[in-house]
Parts: sequence; C-alpha cells; structure tokens
Amino acid sequence: MPLFDYQCNVCDNKFSELRKIAEKDSEINCPSCDSLDTKRLLTTFSVGAVSGAAQSSCPTASSCSSAGQFG
Ligand SMILES: [Zn+2]
Repeated sequence: MPLFDYQCNVCDNKFSELRKIAEKDSEINCPSCDSLDTKRLLTTFSVGAVSGAAQSSCPTASSCSSAGQFG
C-alpha cells in the first residue's frame, strides 16, 4: 500500500497514512484532534538522488558498510 500525506484543516497537523489507492480520498480522522476535516496532500514520489538535505549519517554506502571493522 502506498503512503499518503494528509493535513488537518482544524489543527494543521500533518500526518501520513498507509492506505489502498482506492481509499486515498476517503475520509480520515486527524490523529491529533480526531477531526474528519482533513485533506490529502499531493505526494511527491522521490526518485533516486536527492541533492543535499536528505543525507543520512552515512556519506557513502562504502564508508558505512566498513564501519566498525577495524581493530
Ligand atoms: Zn487535527
């Protein structure tokens, strides 16, 4: 199931939910204030490389996999 993003119109809380595609636009409760007044946000499916910000703690895969093998 794909992950969809929603935003509450009452408290502005943003949340994500795994749902069937057929149910992506059906009503969903805000987990914060339990309101049904929510909207689905446009999901941008990231494709491959994201330049900059989204880097994890490992700069490259090779340096990550060799960590802790010394000594
Ligand atoms: Zn809410």
